[in-house]
Amino acid sequence: AKAMGKARSEVFEPAIHDRAIARMQLEIDLRRALEHKEFMVVYQPIVSLNSGRVAGFEALIRWQHPQRGWVSPAEFIPVAEETGSIVPIGWWILEQVCQQLRTWQQHSVVDSRLTVNVNLSGKQLTQPDLAREVKQILHKTGLSPSSLKLEITESVLMDNVDAAVTILQQLKTLGIQLAIDDFGTGYSSLSYLHRLPIDTLKIDRSFVNDIDCDPEKIEMIRTIVSMAWNLGINVVAEGVETKKQMYQLQALRCDYGQGYFFSRPADAEAAKTLQYFEIRG
Ligand code: C2E
Ligand code: CA
Ligand code: CA
Ligand code: CA
Repeated sequence: AKAMGKARSEVFEPAIHDRAIARMQLEIDLRRALEHKEFMVVYQPIVSLNSGRVAGFEALIRWQHPQRGWVSPAEFIPVAEETGSIVPIGWWILEQVCQQLRTWQQHSVVDSRLTVNVNLSGKQLTQPDLAREVKQILHKTGLSPSSLKLEITESVLMDNVDAAVTILQQLKTLGIQLAIDDFGTGYSSLSYLHRLPIDTLKIDRSFVNDIDCDPEKIEMIRTIVSMAWNLGINVVAEGVETKKQMYQLQALRCDYGQGYFFSRPADAEAAKTLQYFEIRG
């Protein structure tokens, strides 16, 4: 009985308490992380399934916590969203990435057509000065707007489609490109697509995961690709992990693939050497 009582108090009450403390600590640490230079950017290639050429990179944030080591964005991005610290973090990453691509271009280490994708959070999307801020960062770094693509998740866009249309139009006016991220995870997603001024659809990893075993997912990818083709939008399949998945995506006429099969996200030094991948059998 004593052992059980101990287990119980350890497993239950303190666990809730500990979680609240851990969460508060995370908020505090996040607020300091920027000035302490604890963030870095990694780059994952987006590969043409027609040519094997690396057409772009998605920039992904990494946080090296002084005590905990690497903390996953899946853990801290939602917290940063809630507390609002995603806004300064988001500007920081955007400037880093624009600066990085500009440097690569100036040293001719990357193809001039290469674009770089930066994730935009829902919180950033509602900042009234969003377009002005993006424009300023492009101006400051000297990067051509056409080299930048912003990724916005389908669920964020669906929150308020009318507001999203207005904001996306402002961003398009700058000359940048736009992508819908995690596509297929929301509902009624196909009907409003023609209203959004987007260049790229990124099919969520969950579809690609099940491509071997779920004929329904294959049909959905087929539908998404043909609809996108009709709208003049290109399609990226996320989470490509095997050669077999790549072949199936090629057969489905998917334009681009991204995933561990090609490369894990890599630091800038390693990423810039990635230019082509073998895509034929
Ligand atoms: P996301 O935007 O959907 O990014 C793709 C995630 O899938 C990345 O996780 C990437 O490392 C992972 N991934 C890529 N290929 C594969 C694969 O073949 N298999 C599997 N299982 N996973 C793959 P990561 O870097 O942990 O980022 C997680 C999420 O955190 C991102 O999902 C995005 O929503 C958010 N995030 C990351 N960086 C940023 C950022 O700079 N700003 C914002 N607002 N959100 C970010
Ligand atoms: Ca993304
Ligand atoms: Ca995604
Ligand atoms: Ca995601």
